[in-house]
Amino acid sequence: MLALSKRADSLGTENAFVVLAEVNRLQRAGRDIISFCIGQPDFPTPAHVQEAAIEAIRAGKHGYTPSAGIDELRAAAAASMSKLRGIEIAPDEVVIGAGAKPFIAYAIASVTDHGAGDEVIFPLPGFPIYESQIVAQGAVPVALPLREARGYAFDPDELAAKITPRTKLLILNSPHNPTGGLLSRADLQAIAAVLERHPQVWVYADEIYCRLVYDGEFASIASLPGMRERTIISDGASKTYAMTGWRIGFAANRRLAPVFTRWITNTESCASQISQWAALAALTGPQHEAEAMRRRFHARRDLIVRLLNEVPGFRCATPGGAFYAWPNVTEACALIGAADSEELRKRLLHEAGVAVLADIHFGPRVAGDGQHIRFSYAASEAAIEAGVERIADFVKRATRPPRK
Ligand code: PMP
Repeated sequence: MLALSKRADSLGTENAFVVLAEVNRLQRAGRDIISFCIGQPDFPTPAHVQEAAIEAIRAGKHGYTPSAGIDELRAAAAASMSKLRGIEIAPDEVVIGAGAKPFIAYAIASVTDHGAGDEVIFPLPGFPIYESQIVAQGAVPVALPLREARGYAFDPDELAAKITPRTKLLILNSPHNPTGGLLSRADLQAIAAVLERHPQVWVYADEIYCRLVYDGEFASIASLPGMRERTIISDGASKTYAMTGWRIGFAANRRLAPVFTRWITNTESCASQISQWAALAALTGPQHEAEAMRRRFHARRDLIVRLLNEVPGFRCATPGGAFYAWPNVTEACALIGAADSEELRKRLLHEAGVAVLADIHFGPRVAGDGQHIRFSYAASEAAIEAGVERIADFVKRATRPPRK
């Protein structure tokens, strides 16, 4: 019998892709669906970036590159990451990957040993790949619940209680997928104060949404005293420059840069050279298109939050960053007699023609925090208006009369 490994069996996925396949199937069957599922900008990559890629191909710049990336892009990424965070990152601390996502696995694999009981703390709800990779790499996942009452920021006391001598890595994600929550400088200082007592803990700072902040300022834990050395900063071109399919991410950490480079030599060899030249143009060229996209996301955030709060049974806090809204729909579920957010999600898809994700696609629900669904507002203003109107009409139509 040909067997699969337990690891292969245990491998999780991004349920966004599963829902997306379902949406595509319905659309192919002729159904009219407005989708808020996809976590990527709906804008074209800026024209000068496209040109840089075409030029690279024409100039024969399409072979392998060093595994850490071309020097020009490492230097540009170092400069860009340094500037936003107010710290000095040297080009040789930076490694270019095929997106930021592979660094999640590389980081876990580089600081934990398989089957040794090493623990990794990750945010719940959270990007599903964190837990999936912690398990696949043979480490122990320890979920840290993020709660609505704290704006989905870490509770430092809860964090302190989760850290043990076996904790090797803490994953932070700000701005946060799926809630849009932000860690303020004060939040990060409180986390750093906890970590000071645990010098063995590395930090993976997933800052892929760092340029999409609407309220207040982006802050990185790497900029706090004593945190720099232990922090792996993860950033990339995907969300800032509408370049998700180009697959360019950057990770920065002095000690781990050579290790990540070896991982890349062992896996993808290098990121696409063509995409690397394009990303160089994105980082070093004019920034007004990236800034215009950020402003559009900001306006859409204000629009979708206002409209969602007008839907019966929906309560939507204002997310500080990324492009996700995470309304609490506990009351809406009760109104229409849905058992939970997943049943609501299915009914929205099939009965209202609106596709969203449910909280359970980002890990088990946090006890006591109610039911939530996720909207990506990387969708046109017209789609936001029409989609939320469909939802409001559906909830009104489906509301059951109160029991006598
Ligand atoms: N981290 C988070 C939290 C994300 O939401 C995503 C993309 N959905 C990534 C990492 C990966 O981004 P990429 O690989 O496209 O750079």
